[in-house]
Amino acid sequence: MAGAAPARAQSSAAEAPAGDGPWIVRATFEERAQVDRLAAEKEPWEVHHDQRYVVVDVDREGWRRLVELGFAPVVDVARTEYYTRPRAALPGQVEAIPSFPCYRTVEETFAAAQALVLAHPNLATWIDAGDSWEKATAGGLPGYDMMVLRVTSSATAGPKPALFINSAIHAREYATAELTTRFAEFLVNGYGVDPDVTWILDHHEIHFMLHANPDGRKRAEAGQLWRKNTNQNYCGATSNNRGADLNRNFPFEWGCCGGSSGAPCDETYRGAAPASEPETQATRTYATALWPAGWVGGNPPPSNTAGMFLDIHSYGMRLMWSWGSSTTVAPNGIALQTLGRKFAFFNNHNPHQAIYLYATDGSTRDFAYGERGVASFTFEVGTDFFQDCASFESTIYPTNRQALLYAARVVRRPFELPSGPETLSVAAQPNAVNVGQPITLTATDDDTRYNNSNGTEPTQNVAAAEAYLDTPPWAPGAVALPMVAADGAFDEPVEPVQAVLSTTGWPVGRHLLFVRGRDSASNWGPVAAVFVDVSVPVELQTFTIE
Ligand SMILES: [Zn+2]
Repeated sequence: MAGAAPARAQSSAAEAPAGDGPWIVRATFEERAQVDRLAAEKEPWEVHHDQRYVVVDVDREGWRRLVELGFAPVVDVARTEYYTRPRAALPGQVEAIPSFPCYRTVEETFAAAQALVLAHPNLATWIDAGDSWEKATAGGLPGYDMMVLRVTSSATAGPKPALFINSAIHAREYATAELTTRFAEFLVNGYGVDPDVTWILDHHEIHFMLHANPDGRKRAEAGQLWRKNTNQNYCGATSNNRGADLNRNFPFEWGCCGGSSGAPCDETYRGAAPASEPETQATRTYATALWPAGWVGGNPPPSNTAGMFLDIHSYGMRLMWSWGSSTTVAPNGIALQTLGRKFAFFNNHNPHQAIYLYATDGSTRDFAYGERGVASFTFEVGTDFFQDCASFESTIYPTNRQALLYAARVVRRPFELPSGPETLSVAAQPNAVNVGQPITLTATDDDTRYNNSNGTEPTQNVAAAEAYLDTPPWAPGAVALPMVAADGAFDEPVEPVQAVLSTTGWPVGRHLLFVRGRDSASNWGPVAAVFVDVSVPVELQTFTIE
């Protein structure tokens, strides 16, 4: 690169547009090292290693820096216009972010979560995990509490495996908090209605930090491309470039590897010290309480470790796992890859180890895996920071809801269950019976559902299937009811399975029937369930007539 850069720099600099920007630019590069240098100070919106260009927002100084690093920037006129146009409420819009009626504000999100807790106190809890920088810092700014919405059924005692979902740590990533808020509402409203949601909440906890950077989010809601927190000690109290990148501020491998910046005005500024920011401290303390063990004796987590952390970002349609700081495959890297390819089956993201794009250090993802020892992923949802509502509703929410639901299904054993078959289309015929009337239970076990766009996940034939009545396979007293291949032989990777079950002796009431499958490599997949209602025949009912 050294030889070519000066000439390219001169020609690009000559093409610099008039004014001060900001501009959204497409900037071509010669080699990967340029991207790594850029990403250590500025977050590229897009990185296309195959076509050798990045998309990034720059002001005049940023343009100069791009040229200095050997990039050849060209203004994307349409996107620049989209991001710099004044934002106004749509006709009749009285809620949500102006021009984006699908994205609730911080206050509206918190109000929705509190309403959920009020209506379902047995399923949802609202927990104050700390303060945002503005609240933590004396100076008259109100700021926010760092709130966690915990969703689980209080009817079932713990301890339970914990899934922690973080969103909007980067303020401008509009779609992320709405995605997780909708998913939390989906879970709470589905309890007792959807059989899978019901067992998930009976036996697991889902923790949502819906707004991991509420101070910054308020800036972004006003139309600014705000990424960091709003810490006024960094880059000047009134600068729009101030603050720390909370996703570079975590103490695990903080500033280790060229994956963050030490310059306070940079987009990827890592903060003054590891966990210097109150938002980081809140998240870290909360996560540590969920998963106190960490890397026991310095050893990587065993394959049967429960727990999972997901950090939901936008954008780029990527599905990433540790490490982001090194090209080394993580000790659990193959298992993380399997689960990553499974998630990506649902949301059609590109699955890869995080560092493929560029190095990151001090990130939430590597903290959760590297310090707390749980399966950990970054989702980069959608195709824009200020994502249009039409694609959020039609694609981003429905596809990612499926991925998040899968996370909840496997959080008990995230390094193991994703290798096994998925159980689909569980049905009981009939699903309402009198005691003693047999039912036919059917399902399909499918070992093939992975995103194979970046390498091919090994799959096997389905080798066995079984059902459980009310007590799932991991619980004490579980009794396996064998199922058979509907076509007579377990010899395919997608296998219809069935069992005829007598209901003699089943208690009257609503039951959950669980089904799971095992592949020929001895991997059991997660369960899926169906409701069956059992009653007493009318002729046997006794009535008391007064
Ligand atoms: Zn982000």
